[in-house]
Amino acid sequence: MKYDRSQALYERSCQTIPGGISSNVRANWAPAPMFYTHGEGSHVWDADGNEYIDYVLARGPLLFGHSPQPIIDAVKKQLDIGLMYAGQHELEIEVAEKIVAMVPCAERVRFSNSGSEAVHAAMRLARGVTGRNRIIRFEGHYHGWFDSAFWNFAPPLDKAGPREAPIPIPVTGGQVASDADNLVVLPWNDLELVRTAFEKYPDEIAGIITEPIMCNNGAILPRPGYLEGLRELCTAHGAALIFDEVITGFRVSLGGAQEYFGVTPDLGTFAKGVAGGFPVSVIAGSARWMDAFGNLSVAHSGTYNSNAPCMAATLAALNMLSADEGALLKHAHAMGNRIIDGIRERAERVSKRVNVRGVGAVFCVGFNEPQEVVDYRTVALGDRDAVRRFWLALQDRGVRITPEGLWFVSTATTEADVDKTLAAVGDSLEEV
Ligand code: PMP
Repeated sequence: MKYDRSQALYERSCQTIPGGISSNVRANWAPAPMFYTHGEGSHVWDADGNEYIDYVLARGPLLFGHSPQPIIDAVKKQLDIGLMYAGQHELEIEVAEKIVAMVPCAERVRFSNSGSEAVHAAMRLARGVTGRNRIIRFEGHYHGWFDSAFWNFAPPLDKAGPREAPIPIPVTGGQVASDADNLVVLPWNDLELVRTAFEKYPDEIAGIITEPIMCNNGAILPRPGYLEGLRELCTAHGAALIFDEVITGFRVSLGGAQEYFGVTPDLGTFAKGVAGGFPVSVIAGSARWMDAFGNLSVAHSGTYNSNAPCMAATLAALNMLSADEGALLKHAHAMGNRIIDGIRERAERVSKRVNVRGVGAVFCVGFNEPQEVVDYRTVALGDRDAVRRFWLALQDRGVRITPEGLWFVSTATTEADVDKTLAAVGDSLEEV
């Protein structure tokens, strides 16, 4: 594969855009941050004309692949009628009603534009309703890039402190150290430590925020009983249980990971899959918590919230998902499960120590990991360099996954895509 035109565009981009990129996450790419020209269904093309089967899917939003027709049609129709009004319109009620029907925790729904905003709103709600400050968050989870949530995402292990009491570590320059006073950072998947934190800080904990599957660091599943345990502790202590379903929502199951695991949080945050590529996020939850937005005691606002084209996209996306008893999502999972089985089979054939974790529609491939991967510190012991070499080997064979080894599978992925993908996987595993 040649990447010359991407390279040239990147150099030009660096003249006006810091780092040549509009989101720091895109710096990870090699041989340089890449440029893309168009996408169709499960395929995407870069600026050099290279074609890829796409399992990045914009890091999740393209649940239906690139430019799904029903969503594009709905948005085009809305564009001719009106964009936004600084007022309400009927479409947003329809979308809210649909989400209430689909998502277990959703009695009430508010809309924002990005996952980070939704998380920010949910954390504020937890603090506003309880009158408490501290939020428990877990090492290795990603909840967006806003100051109060951007801690301990991927700290170097030698600076992370004791496992049972990680040192709060901001992810970036520019964060205020005192924000950590309002957090309790814990390793994930260890219920006893959460119980102890509630004892240590009686009446101080406003809520717990967690990805229900730790998608952003290895797609680690919760231990049996763990989410149930968090649920019980939050109920017992009057704290909000917040599931950050920005990735898992509408992807792991129609009702999100909360439906998949049968554990209902107080609040859920959604984005990515919910609007098939349009910038929409959702804060959903029980009336007890959400009505603090309604009585104006906790602020939530935004000029672009629930704008009409985005609501049209969301309604079209949710209609696609819920049609035929969720047939589209079942297809995505079936394709993903074929890939997962195929990777395991081929890894065995070439005697590589490969772990595949997650569910059909979102999973992670790791190399040379410890026997039991349950949290950030165990997944961080894996061979990250092998993950990157596997990613680049696949990219050279026209299969696009994330540099961290995370795969998103869309409803547009075909059996033929899977066949080609597995052939590339076999060759890439040998190379790695
Ligand atoms: N929470 C989770 C679980 C996420 O995966 C992400 C984005 N990767 C976010 C929050 C932030 O979403 P956004 O990038 O739309 O702000």
